[in-house]
Amino acid sequence: MRIGIFGGSFNPVHNGHIHLARSAADEFSLDKVFLVPSRISPHRSSSEYVSAEDRLAMLHAAVSVDERLDVSDYELSVDRVSYTIYTIEHFRSLYPDDELFLLVGSDMLMCFDKWFRYEDILEEASLCVISRITGDSEQLRKKAEELGKFGEVLIGNAEPLEISSTEIRKKIAKNKNISCYLDENVVQYIRLKGLYSLRGETKVHYDPDEKKKYLKAHLSAKRYAHSLNVAAECRKLAQKYGEDPDKAYYAGLLHDICKELPDEEQKALVINSGFTVCREELETRSLWHAIAGAYFIKTNFGVEDIDILNAVRFHTVGRAGMSRLEEIVYLGDLISAERDYKDVDKMRKLTYTSLNAAMLEALSFSMKAVIKKGGLIPVCTAEGYNFYIRLEREEKSSNSKRGTK
Ligand code: ATP
Repeated sequence: MRIGIFGGSFNPVHNGHIHLARSAADEFSLDKVFLVPSRISPHRSSSEYVSAEDRLAMLHAAVSVDERLDVSDYELSVDRVSYTIYTIEHFRSLYPDDELFLLVGSDMLMCFDKWFRYEDILEEASLCVISRITGDSEQLRKKAEELGKFGEVLIGNAEPLEISSTEIRKKIAKNKNISCYLDENVVQYIRLKGLYSLRGETKVHYDPDEKKKYLKAHLSAKRYAHSLNVAAECRKLAQKYGEDPDKAYYAGLLHDICKELPDEEQKALVINSGFTVCREELETRSLWHAIAGAYFIKTNFGVEDIDILNAVRFHTVGRAGMSRLEEIVYLGDLISAERDYKDVDKMRKLTYTSLNAAMLEALSFSMKAVIKKGGLIPVCTAEGYNFYIRLEREEKSSNSKRGTK
């Protein structure tokens, strides 16, 4: 069989995507094309991104027009950054004897040599390109030739359909008609669920001043000062790393809200939260306040933003695949202004240089400290460490490959 793999955020899937998939299937005689929605990078937490379930549901509706098209939730189901090479390897293991084709729009061809392990991708699959704009055929041909030394690059002849998900989201937010860009069932779905509406575009209102009053009344002066410092640090980090500074400030401010509650109250919150908590966390008193804090702000302050809740929830233990906000709160807590442990300045510098490298260092530091005390390492911390060390290794190997070729 000739199998096409077509990745994207599909936020939402539009006629341009379906046009690409069908044209590639026609032109390159593909028997099957899998549309593979990506995990929205854990490092993006914008409200423009609807849930994975919604994107999947829209995809299923859209592919029903052609029986050659199908949807794969592979990238949504794995707990790691969704690099295309891993997806190709996944399909290779499913279809060891079949021919694989990676489908992309022309914009992706132009930056393809920046993709992680793009040479390996081309070794495993042929690249099929469909143009997104008129008049770029010469440019595409040149690029295809350049990449040709690593594998097969095929350029389709289909007329471009100039649409993007970004444009569609903007149109929906402005209440403009979108029915000519999307499958009718997708339009219905978006309407029914109120996706991408202005509601999502409006900035959420945070009330840090109110919360400061609460914290001041419920925390010791020292803990309150720490909370303010962490909030300020998180705001700065958010500015540096492109996150919402107000949201980061708010999450940082609230991260220790339950830290000084009596043990039994913290434990009760942990138990009632219904969050998945590993055994080591349950057995380590000093970790309860993070889980309790997330549940407390959810139930008492009505905080619904999952990213804020997770940032508070995981600020003590970390985990694999943390969102950028989670990393910011974790590290903001570690380097806030009043911290004065031995290597704090090194840690500060690293945090402002690379969040991944800083997380690796921080989790390793935390595990060493636990080991020294004879404590238990929470599974999510160990998983987090493995996650960041893999990221670092992959980055190093892709840099060195780039350097040698
Ligand atoms: P956004 O505007 O949110 O960046 P997008 O419309 O570019 O989204 P993605 O889901 O990011 O869509 O793209 C997935 C893949 O589909 C990419 O390879 C992209 O080049 C291709 N693609 C998107 N729109 C078109 C189109 N109109 N014609 C051909 N290919 C397209």
